[in-house]
Amino acid sequence: MRKITLSNGKTAEVECLSCALTSGLIEPEGGVILESSYFHAHQDVAYPIKGLIILASKRHIKCLDELTEEELLDYTHLLSKIRKAQREILGIDYVYYFYNEDTTHHFHTWLVPRYEWMYEFGRSVESVRPVLLHARNNMNNSLNRQEVLSALNLLKMRLNH
Ligand SMILES: [Zn+2]
Repeated sequence: MRKITLSNGKTAEVECLSCALTSGLIEPEGGVILESSYFHAHQDVAYPIKGLIILASKRHIKCLDELTEEELLDYTHLLSKIRKAQREILGIDYVYYFYNEDTTHHFHTWLVPRYEWMYEFGRSVESVRPVLLHARNNMNNSLNRQEVLSALNLLKMRLNH
């Protein structure tokens, strides 16, 4: 069990954060962006970056090769759909995708948009961690959080019409 702090400041004990989020036990800040029978998409608000989306499976699995054929199709379809909305709504030219199978949660992929300011932390995969930490430590102000939430609402509207 891990203790997590919810966006309303309360704490909860959950076995797996991804299960708690995708089952609706925990409502992610900003809400659900997109949901299918197999997947669930939300903003990772721990890192206030516009359009930083997490696509998580609903089943408690860890690895890509554990997805069924049907889930795989749904997964690539949703990834591409979210990616397209990031481009059209937020003007995002490039996205970094990553997921780690040794996660303490369960299968989820990050779609991390690249913005100009991120290049000061370098290019490619080694810049991802410093970028995320910078966002968490230095961009956690109300103005930026507001921007993140409005970007999220725009994405939501595009993806659910
Ligand atoms: Zn889980």
